[in-house]
Amino acid sequence: MRSWWTILPKASLAAALSVAASLALAATVVPALGGVVDGNAWLMCVICPVAIAFPASAWQFRQAERLRAAHSVIASLHAELAASHDALQAAHDDLAERARRDGLTGLLNRDGFFAAFTKLVPGKGAGVLLIVDADHFKAINDRFGHPAGDAALRAIAEVIREVTGDTALAGRIGGEEFAIFLEGLDLARAASLAEAIRLRVAKLDLISEQGDPLPLSVSVGGACHDGTGTAASLMSEADRQLYRAKHQGRDRVAFGEPAAA
Ligand code: GH3
Ligand code: MG
Ligand code: MG
Repeated sequence: MRSWWTILPKASLAAALSVAASLALAATVVPALGGVVDGNAWLMCVICPVAIAFPASAWQFRQAERLRAAHSVIASLHAELAASHDALQAAHDDLAERARRDGLTGLLNRDGFFAAFTKLVPGKGAGVLLIVDADHFKAINDRFGHPAGDAALRAIAEVIREVTGDTALAGRIGGEEFAIFLEGLDLARAASLAEAIRLRVAKLDLISEQGDPLPLSVSVGGACHDGTGTAASLMSEADRQLYRAKHQGRDRVAFGEPAAA
């Protein structure tokens, strides 16, 4: 309704201009053609433009107004759609991130780790794979309960994060088993990180609900990637070294030689 207050003055102006044009034409063209404009003709020069131009331009201005309103509705719907799309994308990204994370430790889960690991290996870049396995963990659960075991796994994951940094590729690939791929690191540097993880876990003084200390330790198996092996061969070599560390008494780090050596 409010729009008529803008349409009517514009339509009136258009009608007034039409009347002026009609009178000007009657005053110039008709005499030039030898005619005479009498009283009724002057009246028609006013009535015709008013009767035609006023409703026609009012209708046209009204249509233009509707078109503008429709455009602005479409623009706001478009903005809403873009916002919904952004929200959906964010939810999708969040879900994808959750799907690749381990709920207990916040590290990558098995699928998340292997998806990223198999993108890096095989590859030209060197690196070292570590498999960290908690020692006698079944006994920890049996003695102190599953919640205490969970807290211990979280603490081990925290040590891994602290020692290897937030950007290292680290995941919980089994119940009490973690894998870390240290991209670009050589054997010596990786061995010292593995030793740091082992030492810090051994020094964790977790206390059970009953007030008893949890005897935590990890064994670590390592394998070097020199750009030639596959993800599976690197994994089985690290596994072999882990088995060696367990066999030699646990709470230790075992490394093989680089595949090319
Ligand atoms: P080893 O030194 O040879 O590795 O002995 P282990 O007892 O650690 O190995 P084993 O494979 O016999 O047992 C692993 C245990 O880890 C069994 C299971 O109860 C425990 N475990 C696996 N996943 C979880 C988990 O998410 N939370 C807790 N609390 N325990 C877990
Ligand atoms: Mg174990
Ligand atoms: Mg295990």
